[in-house]
Amino acid sequence: MMKMSIAEANGNLGQEIPFAYRTTAAELGATGDGFSFVGEIVVRGNLVYTGVCYRVSGKIEAVKAFACDRCLKECQEEQNLSFEEEYRKADEAEDQEALVVDGDALEITDLVRDTILAAQSLSNLCRPDCKGLCPVCGHDLNEGECGCDSFVPDPRLAALQQLIDKED
Ligand SMILES: [Zn+2]
Ligand SMILES: [Zn+2]
Repeated sequence: MMKMSIAEANGNLGQEIPFAYRTTAAELGATGDGFSFVGEIVVRGNLVYTGVCYRVSGKIEAVKAFACDRCLKECQEEQNLSFEEEYRKADEAEDQEALVVDGDALEITDLVRDTILAAQSLSNLCRPDCKGLCPVCGHDLNEGECGCDSFVPDPRLAALQQLIDKED
């Protein structure tokens, strides 16, 4: 649980009060299809009471692990994600969507998890131009050509080709 007291911020209007947490994907419930996070997730930032709201901003450092969608290689990618949100006291929140301060504490667990999950791309590639595997022999085409004829003929063209062959 990444929960911090707002007492110090209340007493220091406009000043940045630093915070730091170490968590894990399991603790956060930050899981998704085709990827996971290795080791600790580090969250650092500042809390400021502006007089109107509590502004929370910071950075999340995480290491994503996944298998490339095209070549299946196991990869790790360091991620550095930013977040910034405003929290309000429950009785001052304008709508139900607003993030609220719970008593004299403010919890950023959901914010951190949502920031991480929203930042993940739908495709997991070892590099943007990954060439993938040869469909014939399974060779990693990023390491060079394998020499296979990986041309897959269009079935309609293949039928046409047969007709032409018969005429010969
Ligand atoms: Zn790849
Ligand atoms: Zn091949």
